[in-house]
This record gives sequence, C-alpha cells and structure tokens, in this order.
Amino acid sequence: MSFGIDNLPYGSVIGADGRRFAAARFGADVLDLSHLDPDLFAGGTLDAFLAGGRPIWTRVRADVVDALTADRYPLTPLADVTPVLAFTVADYVDFYASEHHATNAGRIFRPDGAALTPNWKHQPLGYHGRSGSVVVSGTDVPRPRGQFLDGDAVTFGPTRRLDFEAEVAFVVGRPGSRIAVADADDHIFGVCLLNDWSARDMQGFETPPLGPFLGKSFATSIGAWITPLDALAGVRTAPRQDPLPLPHLRETDPAHGLRLDLEVRINGQVVSRPPFGAMYWTYAQMLAHLTSNGSAVRAGDLFASGTVSGPDRGHRGCLLELTWNGTEPLDRGDGATGTWLEDGDEVTIAATAGAVTLAEVRGRVLPSVSADP
Ligand code: CA
Repeated sequence: MSFGIDNLPYGSVIGADGRRFAAARFGADVLDLSHLDPDLFAGGTLDAFLAGGRPIWTRVRADVVDALTADRYPLTPLADVTPVLAFTVADYVDFYASEHHATNAGRIFRPDGAALTPNWKHQPLGYHGRSGSVVVSGTDVPRPRGQFLDGDAVTFGPTRRLDFEAEVAFVVGRPGSRIAVADADDHIFGVCLLNDWSARDMQGFETPPLGPFLGKSFATSIGAWITPLDALAGVRTAPRQDPLPLPHLRETDPAHGLRLDLEVRINGQVVSRPPFGAMYWTYAQMLAHLTSNGSAVRAGDLFASGTVSGPDRGHRGCLLELTWNGTEPLDRGDGATGTWLEDGDEVTIAATAGAVTLAEVRGRVLPSVSADP
C-alpha cells in the first residue's frame, strides 16, 4: 500500500473536533503522535521533535512502527483531518542545483553567452527566500500583482507569466554551523516536495542586479507530510561532478544524491517527469555551502533544490523551460495548448522514491484579488 510501514511521513493536522495534533501518516489513516510522547508533541507541531536530533528521530520512528504493528492506539482516517504546516518554517533558502535547469535558463536568457555562469560548478548557488509565505499543499494561490515591462512601458498589475517550479525541499532539525558534508544527516530530518510559484515577468524586471524578490515571495507551497531521510536509504546515489568542488564541498561515500522520480500535472494532465537523481549538487553539499561562512541553521529551516530538470524535454520542471519562455505552447491534453498558468489551473507535483511515495504538493491559481493600490 502507499504510505506503508517503510515510509511513515510526519505532519500536523486539525481533527474533526478542532484539535491540532502531530501525526504520522500510515496508509489511509494517521496516528496521533501525542499517544507516544505527549511532551515532545505537545504543541501539535513537529517543532520540538525536529530540534531533538537524530537519536530522537530514530526512537520515535521505532515507537511508531511498534505502535502500528501492535495496533496499540486507535487511528484516525486521513479523510477526517485537515493538514496544516507541519512545523514552524524558520529560514527559507532556494538553490539552483540542476545543471539541466540552469543550462536551459542560461540559453533562454543569455543566448549569446555561456549557458552556465563561471561560479556554477564551484558552489551550489542560491538565494534567501521568505519563510512567511510558505504555505501547505492545498492552499489556493491568488495571482500576484507587481511591476513588469509591457513593451517598453513599466506597468503594475496581475502577472501575465505565472509559472510553477517543481522542487524537492529539505527540513533541518538539529541546529548547526559549518556543517560538513559527511555530517549532513545528523542535521536534516526529512524531505518534502515544493512548488516555487514564480511570476516570470516580475522576476525578469526586478532581478538585475540583486536577484529574485517579489516575483517569488508571494507563495511557496510544500507538501503536508515530511518523509524522514530514514525512509530514503534505498535510493541514494552519487552525483557526477566535474570539476571536483573544493574539499569542504566534496561528496562522501555514501553520497547524498537521491533517486526521486517527480511528476508534474496541470489539471490532472501530466506535463513533465523530472528526475531528481540527475541533480548536480546534493542536499548535503547545499547544507555544507549554506553554513560554510559561519552562518547557522536552526530547527525548522527549509531549503529547496531549485527547479528539478533532466536531460530530455519531458523532464523540464517549469513552464519557462517547457514552453521555452512562452514561445513553444505546451500540450495540455484534449487538444488544448497553453504557455503560462491561467486562473483556475491546478498544479500538482508528486514523486516516488522506489517503493516510497512522497506526499504531493498541490495548489490552484485564483484570479488576482485586490484593486489597484
Ligand atoms: Ca526555485
């Protein structure tokens, strides 16, 4: 069954009686984790649990397996609870770790220059995002408004180039700084899918010279259920990196690549199957780089891979690439084609890791809501 005993992702839900509780997902049910440890899960979130570190994560996972195997507590049907954000998002960082995505973006925006910038293979590039606009899967996303060019004129209004970015995100538990690649798994609890909604016209006008800002900060959706790294031991893979990065960023054996197979659907129609196993940088290298200057990470920090794209057209993880910046309409099924997201479109990102399923991240685009400011 999906979400069986080898998976057991964690989340936070509101029950039919209005009570919020931390839960482990098992098949079509959830287990209230306060049965296992009322103090650790007292707030109904994963916050204290994440901060506890790997010994706590290992103990609780064993206790959950034992409770489910022995039928120790009553379960609640998944259909009777409403998932909310599983943890308090501390800081949020988004990387740019797919060589295929970075190469495609470079070709689109710098057709006469090198596709990759000179720094790209020496460090996982990223930017600091906005943790307050991270929302749980199922949350509607109103079309954002902002500045962009209409011909040569600067205008303000609802974005005309709304996009998704299919990404994989990592949730930090144990705090730390200057974290070695080899120690990453002591600090990272687990994985979820992430949609970095992007307004390409706003992004294009505002980005030089300081980077992404309002074109990406209006909403970032994450899956409701965090799959522990423990469940992904069977899909580890080593990245191919040439040239080798500096010693503090070199991968270890075993390495930290993950063979996750993503699938992106718009209104139920599959539009892409991005392979996470083809990523250039691993999550351990991202964490090592993020903390290499002495910057610290805290429990609840979230960092994402950047758009996941592979070598083929059907692997591209955003509409920017799938439609080549709006110049090649995409087959939406039933003869329909389109370029950017339209009001009412629902984007779903799903993934499997061998026999393990990651919880999908889903969101629907709503019309822009506000009047002109
Ligand atoms: Ca992104």
